Amino acid sequence: MKSILIKNALLITLDDNRPDHFYGDLLINNGLISEITETPNSIDPEKAMTVIDGTKLFVMPGLINTHGHAAMTLFRGYADDLPLQEWLEDKIWPIEEYLKAEDVYWGTMLAVAEMLKGGTTTFTDMYFFMDKVAEATAECGIRAVLSRGMIGFGDSAEKGLLETEQFIKDWHGSENSRINVFLGPHAPYTCPPEYLKKVMVLAEKTGRPLQIHLSETKKEVEESIQNFGKSPVEQVDELGLFNYPVTAAHCVHLSDRDIEILAENNVGVAHNPGSNLKLGSGTARLNNMLAKGINVGIGTDGAASNNNLDMIEEIRLVALLEKGIRMDATLIDAKTALKMATSMGAAALKIADIGILKEGLKADLIGIRHNKLHLTPLHNPLAHIVYAAAAADVEYVIVDGQLLLEKGRLTGIDEERVIFEASKHAKELVRAKNEKRDG
Ligand SMILES: [Zn+2]
Repeated sequence: MKSILIKNALLITLDDNRPDHFYGDLLINNGLISEITETPNSIDPEKAMTVIDGTKLFVMPGLINTHGHAAMTLFRGYADDLPLQEWLEDKIWPIEEYLKAEDVYWGTMLAVAEMLKGGTTTFTDMYFFMDKVAEATAECGIRAVLSRGMIGFGDSAEKGLLETEQFIKDWHGSENSRINVFLGPHAPYTCPPEYLKKVMVLAEKTGRPLQIHLSETKKEVEESIQNFGKSPVEQVDELGLFNYPVTAAHCVHLSDRDIEILAENNVGVAHNPGSNLKLGSGTARLNNMLAKGINVGIGTDGAASNNNLDMIEEIRLVALLEKGIRMDATLIDAKTALKMATSMGAAALKIADIGILKEGLKADLIGIRHNKLHLTPLHNPLAHIVYAAAAADVEYVIVDGQLLLEKGRLTGIDEERVIFEASKHAKELVRAKNEKRDG
């Protein structure tokens, strides 16, 4: 029986039935949280195989990254300071043509290692060579929502549907349910209505939810109105897409009616402010979405448009941006920001058993060291995590009851090797693309 006791920690459970923070103990048994006490040093250490001294640690639910393209770490710093369409069409898509399975494996390993060290316990991915992404996920111990990205044009359209069905059969629910597979139609502007209908047939057949990019740029919305006389949200709603569980990424340019539709259909939203700012896409109507009860999680998006996968940085951006653009400092308080990165993110991804610290739920949690200069004095732990902490403060990461980061070191990933291999594969990709261009 595998068991871990964290004793005398400052617990931030994000469970509304408990105080916002308190000193106590937390016991993990067989991958689940089995006991939480509100009195420190109250659980007998004999009950656990491993005991972690939680003194000077904030212990909270693991961070949930609700949108990204993990292997795009290989293109970190490759194409910057460009608007979305130019960035995609002139830089990213042309080099992605050269991607091979091994590139995606090492790009994903790089992403997962970075995310684990920053306290992310669940990540979301939509990309290619997904078997390699699933292999890396299985090896690293992190939890994931994975989708084979589907584009509805050209030869790859049918292949995308077939590979998605096979990917679900091969991987969904594997690794003690750490691996969740979603259908991943890329976006309404890359998946025509006839294709989205086929995707919906597959959703019906497999019972799996979908993730899609939606209303990311103003241009996307304008073209949708030109082509269909409707916004992207209205268009896919009329097709019937929201009859299935959906997580929509970005949702930057929404009308009041769009927000109503998302709320009525319980569509989860992945909010990616860093990527939206960097690509000049705009700023989402976060407060309006939350006011309608939409589950909005936080995503980093890929490292080619962020350019890191640091969820603590992203949480801060979420809280600061909304206050700044609405000129209202009361919006997105620290607790709301943390819930977006945990429990609301889990709800946006339709995963019921993670996101808060509670007996019976999966043991996905992190420990953040707070006896540091920039976290002193300690008035409000929640405010510290949102407004002052850094990824490097994360010292412990546990996923599914497994200790993946201990005293700031990855327990199962060779960090040096990941840096070496990812650098090598990224360089080879650029060389292959340049040779083609010059030759
Ligand atoms: Zn994306």
